[in-house]
Amino acid sequence: MSKDSAAALVERSLAHVWHPCTQMKDHEWLPLVPITRGEGAWLYGPDDKRYFDAVSAWWTNLFGHRHPHIVSRLKEQLDTLDHVMLAGFTHPPVVELSERLARITPGDLSRCMYTDNGSSAVEVALKMSHHYWVNSGKPEKTRFIALSGSYHGETLGALAVSSTGLYRDAYKQLLLEPIVVRGPDCGILEPGGRPPGRSWEDHARARFKEMERALEQYADTTAAVIVEPLIQCASGMRMWPPIYLKLLSEACKRHGVHLIADEIAVGFCRTGKLFACEWADVTPDFMCLSKGLTGGTLPLAVCLTNEHIYQAFYDDYASGKAFLHSHSYTGNPITCTAALATLDILEQRDWPAHVRNLGQRLYGALSELSRHPHVADIRQQGLVVAVDLAQDGPAAKPYAAGERRGLRVYQHGLTRGALLRPLGNTVYFMPPYVTTPEEIDWLAEVAIEGIHSATAD
Ligand code: PMP
Repeated sequence: MSKDSAAALVERSLAHVWHPCTQMKDHEWLPLVPITRGEGAWLYGPDDKRYFDAVSAWWTNLFGHRHPHIVSRLKEQLDTLDHVMLAGFTHPPVVELSERLARITPGDLSRCMYTDNGSSAVEVALKMSHHYWVNSGKPEKTRFIALSGSYHGETLGALAVSSTGLYRDAYKQLLLEPIVVRGPDCGILEPGGRPPGRSWEDHARARFKEMERALEQYADTTAAVIVEPLIQCASGMRMWPPIYLKLLSEACKRHGVHLIADEIAVGFCRTGKLFACEWADVTPDFMCLSKGLTGGTLPLAVCLTNEHIYQAFYDDYASGKAFLHSHSYTGNPITCTAALATLDILEQRDWPAHVRNLGQRLYGALSELSRHPHVADIRQQGLVVAVDLAQDGPAAKPYAAGERRGLRVYQHGLTRGALLRPLGNTVYFMPPYVTTPEEIDWLAEVAIEGIHSATAD
């Protein structure tokens, strides 16, 4: 494709495509990047200009773009069955996928309800939790508890339990009101957050007291607590330790409230275990998965639950207890095949150990930033590493959001061929697991350069 046609593609895109999570006016000065091919961890534009996908295509990609095993299984499936509705019908990919998910997810999770994006898997969990209580004679359990800094998606129910104002505020009059409890975020930029020197565990235990109080006060009217185990990704890769999840799971059981684990961003080894709940040896009542589920190829999500909850819906039709939720493409055979191929690859080696090693290497390669005057915090969990930029790093005094310092790092990255899309003033890395150690070092080098230039004035 010639340069001219690259420019034409951008122009046509800006004429008709409303790009997600974007102030479209930015593109008057911020170039839209055309991509025509992906291979491994790299995305290629026209003229073969390439970008290293350090954010795994919005955290979806695990093993690189167009992994040959996923591609070949998809081609086979395309020649076999494209789609059939899942009400009244079933098919081999959805059956095999459900069996395998039941096997690999924690504890007694065994029942799979499919949707086609993460937000709607969260909707399923919220509705199913409340509906369980209705079917069990407790219809007054209508509320949900969410953590500060949470993000669970963009549909109205999922957005309601997302406390991050950036995404939520414009719609707040449309949304049900969750009970928001201060989260255990162990970064140091949050006002009133973890004081320097206090351990993550102590901070999490102290914050848990607020959750315990909320449960004591609201358990009678609360259906479920929803959390993103270990990393609140969208609100800036805020990290917290497993002890909070352990305490939360025990408290939910004690108070008769469901626990929903939204592992949409952190599932499939991202934190260094297959599922983040494993760090705390916790089995939630509902687990939502998406993103990495298909290795980053196709949209598919699932909400898993246990037999006990399933049985509360299992009755004669006339009882009106059935879960009548549906989406047209629920359990689509092609997307389920992409998930099966992804699970095949996951079984091929000890990915959790590999992910932990790569994450450590990246964290080490960024270590000089700990002395940078405009870096407040660097943290790592598995293959997620985040760096908070701040006006006065040591004092954790943030930059005004409008300065868009993180965006400058993104712009620098593009000039070097690295896609490092930030979250506000948090620069983060969430690369595919096939990233080589040399690529890790190079990414760190590009980011360090970018952070120097973004904070120079
Ligand atoms: N939950 C979490 C934790 C997420 O990170 C996201 C997406 N970033 C969602 C839910 C929503 O998923 P989707 O974008 O597929 O609707």
